[in-house]
Amino acid sequence: MTTVDLPLLPLGRGTDPLSERGVECPGDLPAASDPDLVARARAAKEALGDRVFVLGHHYQRDEVIQFADVTGDSFKLARDAAARPEAEFIVFCGVHFMAESADILTGPHQRVVLPDLAAGCSMADMARIAQVEKAWEALAEAGVRDQVVPVTYMNSSAAIKAFCGRNGGVVCTSSNAEVALEWAFAQKGPDTKVLFLPDQHLGRNTAVLDLGYSLDDCVVWNPHKPGGGLTAEELRDAKVILWKGHCSVHGRFSPDVIDDLRAKIPDLNVIVHPECRHEVVLKADHVGSTEHIIKTIEAAPAGSSWAIGTELNLVQRLANAHPDKNIVFLDRNVCYCSTMNRIDLPHLVWAMESLVEGVVVNQIEVDPQTEQEALVALQRMLDLPGKSHRD
Ligand code: SF4
Repeated sequence: MTTVDLPLLPLGRGTDPLSERGVECPGDLPAASDPDLVARARAAKEALGDRVFVLGHHYQRDEVIQFADVTGDSFKLARDAAARPEAEFIVFCGVHFMAESADILTGPHQRVVLPDLAAGCSMADMARIAQVEKAWEALAEAGVRDQVVPVTYMNSSAAIKAFCGRNGGVVCTSSNAEVALEWAFAQKGPDTKVLFLPDQHLGRNTAVLDLGYSLDDCVVWNPHKPGGGLTAEELRDAKVILWKGHCSVHGRFSPDVIDDLRAKIPDLNVIVHPECRHEVVLKADHVGSTEHIIKTIEAAPAGSSWAIGTELNLVQRLANAHPDKNIVFLDRNVCYCSTMNRIDLPHLVWAMESLVEGVVVNQIEVDPQTEQEALVALQRMLDLPGKSHRD
């Protein structure tokens, strides 16, 4: 479920190039039942050689991950792409905002391809640039804007990153949100406030659990209500203004499932991603980014039991890789990220075979002005002190 105020487009049909989701795939895709898909993907990748670099986000399907040259979270993948200037084509098996970040961080001679343009992110879609500009104006009218530093999570559109770049703000990841918030609060003296976009949960968990602010210091800006649904007094009293966005996958995990699992599995360790709701994070034993979750499970002793609260493809892959540990998913229902799952083998084969034929399909290109401003916010993040709390 999302709070996006837009008509729903059937996935893969219709056109909304300003959105993170639902644009037309122009390709003549191979059938999913084609028994030669694996061989075709292998042949296309071999034919392209060093000209192509395939990135696979941790939440991608196994059928796609098997062709990734490197796997990781969104920021690691963008950095990996930037470190491969010889690759003419970056095929990004992830979602739209990730491909945008890769385009921003790679050279002008490199072209970034998203195998299915319908692979967006519902969280990124919850903060549209027009809504954020409107909120910025409202903060000025409330007399607090001069004290506000915008911070955006990596999971946001290039336009939002650019907004932060031109307004003295920074980008953060789930690994460095603490140090990014510390940096932001040091920018405008003791009265500084942070506008945290677009994930209210990462913002709240970091402000309260890592920086020691209280829940009362945080208010939630609802872009669908006039003035964000907040009074000028509430804005004046707040330290953290959280955008009303969330991840539709991580928002599903609930504290009662943690209680149920603890009652059933002795000595259970619970590890969750900081995009989970505050009450879930409070009940967990560990909280951290996907990279942190992977490292923690790798280092765990044989025979230990773990409930993991992150996307199911990654949890399944960890369970398969660690048969000596008891690993369960922290939800009663099967729940994949539906947009991540848009990237499947037929789309990957189509994208790579098109490149072999000299046709660049589904290229993600950020316009130069947005790129320049987004780079300012990304560079501020890269310049943050090395502390990376959760990794
Ligand atoms: S898992 Fe959540 S944050 Fe990640 S791409 Fe899917 S909807 Fe977006």
